[in-house]
Amino acid sequence: MKALVYQGPRDVAVLDVSDARIERPTDVIVKVTSTNICGSDLHMYEGRTTMETGRTLGHENLGEVVEVGDGVDRVKVGDRVCLPFNVGCGFCANCERGFTGFCLSADSDTPGGAYGFAAMGTYAGGQAEYLRVPWADFNCLVLPEDAEEKESDYVMLADIFPTGYHATELAAVSPGESVVVYGGGPVGLMAAYSANLRGASQVLVVDRQSDRLRLAEEAGATGVDDSRGDHIEQILELTDGGADKGCECVGYQAHDPQGDERPEATMNDLVASVKATGAIGVVGVFLPQDDGAPTELTQQGKLPFDFGQFWFKGQRIGTGQANVKAYNRRLGDLIHRGKAKPSFIVSHELPLSQAADAYRHFDDRDPGWTKVILKP
Ligand code: NAD
Ligand code: ZN
Repeated sequence: MKALVYQGPRDVAVLDVSDARIERPTDVIVKVTSTNICGSDLHMYEGRTTMETGRTLGHENLGEVVEVGDGVDRVKVGDRVCLPFNVGCGFCANCERGFTGFCLSADSDTPGGAYGFAAMGTYAGGQAEYLRVPWADFNCLVLPEDAEEKESDYVMLADIFPTGYHATELAAVSPGESVVVYGGGPVGLMAAYSANLRGASQVLVVDRQSDRLRLAEEAGATGVDDSRGDHIEQILELTDGGADKGCECVGYQAHDPQGDERPEATMNDLVASVKATGAIGVVGVFLPQDDGAPTELTQQGKLPFDFGQFWFKGQRIGTGQANVKAYNRRLGDLIHRGKAKPSFIVSHELPLSQAADAYRHFDDRDPGWTKVILKP
């Protein structure tokens, strides 16, 4: 089968790989019909991780079940399913409590498994014609009869819609509150959209790309362009002294508007622009430190974070991978019943054969390249 393979930094290609096959009785095989490129794929793509060459990327997958293992009894051939990016077993101590992003059974050194990801197991990704789904009865979200008609909405349930929502959950966004979101990429846009679904009275999105700030307005938020003067001052003024809640949706790849890397920027900016006693949800990825020789990762894991200001303001912080399972059924019902349409961020739907080119554009943050759905 054809699949998008990681060959080294900024080098991916669609190649012939061995077919996805049932390895355990609880697996199913899904014929992938939509698979997104995500900001998280760029950690691997840019060569900042321990990703092995030859592996298939892709963790935002949707498709049709074409084969089921002997131990699968809920999911059936022909079902259209969306797959949470987390691979969870459903019965370990973390999955039982809903923390499927930290599954203890996944074939990974750290808690939590994911398709096509470094340091989260060896599961193949879904930017391919077919995908093996482990613990399929648990991991498949079986979609309703409008699955094909709303495919570009439902595929957002694999990651970024629940992840954006998770940021607002970590920050405990409540009706009437003001919320500032750092990062107007797909995840930040979904956090802004989710804050509005939760009844926020005001949502601000900080970025410097005009196309993304325009989409923030489509999500019902006000764009704050940090290339035009002091964005913290702008936020304090717009929110009468600070936002009630904040969401971090950039991660260690934060830059200043001049293009210099500043991985600590968004954390310190959030502490400054959120009110005392406010809460901050961090879903942007900060890669762990390497215990060995200093590497690029070491610098990205350790941040010069202003803990003093954070402590004096009595703020709270929540972090980590989204537990997609915990949200995707209810967010799916919002799509099904017409109350959410996350596909408003989709800029391109392209055949898998154009994936390498699409990665290049998305990695360069070329204007207009917000969210790409690949159609194998
Ligand atoms: P993206 O790279 O497309 O978007 C990031 C945006 O941040 C860009 O628009 C960029 O212009 C902006 N930005 C850069 N520096 C900034 C700064 N200092 N202030 C404000 N904005 C700034 O990525 P994405 O797909 O939206 O993902 C965002 C982050 O979320 C990534 O780190 C990704 O890995 C992470 N993520 C986490 C989870 C999870 O489960 N926690 C899931 C998916 C993605
Ligand atoms: Zn993703």
